[in-house]
Amino acid sequence: VRFRRFVAGAIGLALLSGCATVEPPAVTGGAAAPPTLAYRIAQSLTTEVGPRLAGTPREAAARDWAVRTLKDLKFTHVRVEPFTFQGWVREREEAAIVSHGNQALAVAALGGSISTPKAGITAPVAFIASYDDLLLAPPGAYAGKIAFVNDRMKAARDGSGYGIAVRKRSRGAIEAAKRGALALVIRSVGTDNTRFPHTGNMNYDKSVKKIPAAAVSNADADQIERLNAMGMPVQLKLTLKTRAVPNAPSGNVVADIMGVEKPQEIVLLAAHLDSWDLGPGAIDDATGVAIVTAAALKAAGPEMKPKRTIRVVLYGAEEVGVHGGDAYAKAHASDLKNHVMATEADFGTGRVWRFASKASAADLPFFDSVAAGLRDLGVERGNNESSGGADIAVLGKAGVPIVGLTQDGTTYFDYHHTANDTLDKVDAAALEQNVEVYARVARAFANR
Ligand SMILES: [Zn+2]
Repeated sequence: VRFRRFVAGAIGLALLSGCATVEPPAVTGGAAAPPTLAYRIAQSLTTEVGPRLAGTPREAAARDWAVRTLKDLKFTHVRVEPFTFQGWVREREEAAIVSHGNQALAVAALGGSISTPKAGITAPVAFIASYDDLLLAPPGAYAGKIAFVNDRMKAARDGSGYGIAVRKRSRGAIEAAKRGALALVIRSVGTDNTRFPHTGNMNYDKSVKKIPAAAVSNADADQIERLNAMGMPVQLKLTLKTRAVPNAPSGNVVADIMGVEKPQEIVLLAAHLDSWDLGPGAIDDATGVAIVTAAALKAAGPEMKPKRTIRVVLYGAEEVGVHGGDAYAKAHASDLKNHVMATEADFGTGRVWRFASKASAADLPFFDSVAAGLRDLGVERGNNESSGGADIAVLGKAGVPIVGLTQDGTTYFDYHHTANDTLDKVDAAALEQNVEVYARVARAFANR
């Protein structure tokens, strides 16, 4: 198995024929089942393309893979809708505690961070217990120091710990710089206790000095926390080399299963094709790609004749600023009124347990009936305030009806944006529950 795992070319062929080159994980409580279409898609993308950072040749390879795969699966009008954006790549990242020997830390630059000077930044650490404490500090509080923000993210089934924890990543460099810090280092936004640092996008503000920003793994953050608790001054050295890429090329891959009665009306199933550069992005978001692609086919049925068009959009450049979501909304602005429903899969492979929506009052009874049709799969009715997902939130704001299918995200943030987001994290049985849920929803709206 180990050897055959590397026969990459054969996997692409196996996608259609169903003869997998790699045995799937055993299904709990039974004999190993043959790998499903969704599993084979996730396997093919993560293995043949691997890491696919937006704007790089690897994201272009993912688009080629997607066009090939969707054509092979008999989607029509398979095309790339290109756009460009301000890209970014990491080249080198190192950090160490230099006040107690020279202890190397597992570190990752945050997406968009500037470089440090070539020789790195060596400075005392300002230990900041939480992002809220950072906000309370007065101007100049961290002058000449590396600001270290320590809050821990809490695991939750609905992933609700993320919104609070991610503030230090997205805005920490701005707030630390306002207070004089030379650089920002954060405890990873993640719920594991490993030495895998979590990357992710960060922001600057035009009116505030830019400082370099990085995350250390949770286990490394513990080390800094312990030294601080012992009352020992900590000194860090941080060296980052990154590069901005102006006009980086990206694109959304769009594919249809044409409706036979109202082809102009569209049911949109979304996922994103790009991943962070550190790993192959299995649960973020190869499984989303797999779920919506397999679900579209299942919803259309063997005849491939839904009443309305079922469209799969595999978005580009989501991780680095949701550029694909904006590009699709712009390119299809005049046609959004024909989008009868949009939903997205971008939360791993945990089982779907909640159906949320954003529907008009007149439409709610229909949405309720679709949700009721998922009860046997363990799905409960959620509220009517769903954004649906990062890429399609802009569609919801423009009035497109939204379905938000909440997956069990209890372990999602153990791997999110790390090198450890690999295919072995995919729960094959839960993946199929996802496909069934998304297929039933797509079918209900397509054949309404
Ligand atoms: Zn994602």
